[in-house]
Amino acid sequence: MKKTIKDYQLENKKVIIRVDFNVPMKEGIITDDTRIKRAIPTIKYAIENGAKVILLSHLGKVKEESDLQKNDLYPVSIRLQELIEKEVFFSNKTRGKELEEKVSSLKKGEILLIQNTRYEDLIGKKESTCNEELAKYWASLGDIFINDAYGTCHRKHASNVGIANYLPSGIGFLVEEEINKIDGILEEDTHPFVVIMGGAKVHDKIKVIKNLIQKCDLLLIGGGMAYTFLAARNYPIGKSILDEESMEFCKEILSTYEEKIILPIDHLVSGSITSDKVSIKRICDTTELDMGFDIGPQTIQLFKEKLSSAKRVIINGPMGCFENPNYQEGTKEIYQYLTDNHIKTLVGGGDSAASVNQLSNPNKFYHISTGGGATLEYLEGTVLPGISVIDEKK
Ligand code: ADP
Ligand code: MG
Repeated sequence: MKKTIKDYQLENKKVIIRVDFNVPMKEGIITDDTRIKRAIPTIKYAIENGAKVILLSHLGKVKEESDLQKNDLYPVSIRLQELIEKEVFFSNKTRGKELEEKVSSLKKGEILLIQNTRYEDLIGKKESTCNEELAKYWASLGDIFINDAYGTCHRKHASNVGIANYLPSGIGFLVEEEINKIDGILEEDTHPFVVIMGGAKVHDKIKVIKNLIQKCDLLLIGGGMAYTFLAARNYPIGKSILDEESMEFCKEILSTYEEKIILPIDHLVSGSITSDKVSIKRICDTTELDMGFDIGPQTIQLFKEKLSSAKRVIINGPMGCFENPNYQEGTKEIYQYLTDNHIKTLVGGGDSAASVNQLSNPNKFYHISTGGGATLEYLEGTVLPGISVIDEKK
């Protein structure tokens, strides 16, 4: 078990919290502040317990000079200030005198946000290569390090992994919740355990499939990913998305786990994603010009039957191109079935989480995991570097 923020005395301590403020921005305006909101419980806990809070986060990528202004964290400090209803100090520099003075003048219960950690990538990629000197420097600014940036836990950077080597460390509430929920559903011994996979490409999910297929009783495959599996079984797929390089993998997994894998039997097809001329076809009737964009009604029915006795479900990837109103039905119906029947369901993946918010009610799910890449790697069975570096409870 990892130490958490609750395992430390925070009174008058300089507590460095690595948060995930990598919010979407358009011309300096934050278009979605969910990530800021989700970091608040840990920040609040720290200030309520008398800490001097120092926040670190990355924002976007910094490769050239022009990326600096584009990925300036200052607007985030303003938004945080509004949300937390408390002054948030900001250091425009990631190191140096200005920053050090701001740190040393912090009083207990005050918050300082440091400029985008990836400003340190401009010369020598110091943040992203986990530069030792930088990690040590940031560690020298505080007494305790808390990692609450779940979305970057799969990366080994100076601000989340390097720094933890030089300070007593713990995880924040967000990371704690994510790992407890994911471990919880993976480790409980209830069956049938059904995994539903979808989304665009097989390639991105090979390791997840390899890991979960061993643990689950059934794997239902929809979305664009299904076509490479269907092609591997010699079904016609027309112009539907095919991931040629993963074909061998699909063949192999289909032959090893034949009885566990369920593929679509019908789908919604069209000549192009922009056309409104949509028809329902059985997979075996797919013509050369058809492109499949959603699972069909018979597949929805089949998947519901397979889910009827499920005790726990993990979903990764939508069943169709849900961004297009013509192709939302499959994803929506599956969510509805799971929530109506109170089936314990964990949803992982950035687009999957977005599809739940759009088509269903996120509160009705056991957990919606927000860390796209981090969650995928966790589901692959990988030990995330941002978590493994944290001190263990004694
Ligand atoms: P997640 O982010 O949840 O891991 P992915 O990124 O793997 O999910 O996949 C999401 C994308 O898959 C969506 O943008 C969706 O439009 C696309 N997708 C789903 N079904 C299809 C399909 N039949 N053909 C092409 N793309 C699809
Ligand atoms: Mg995605």
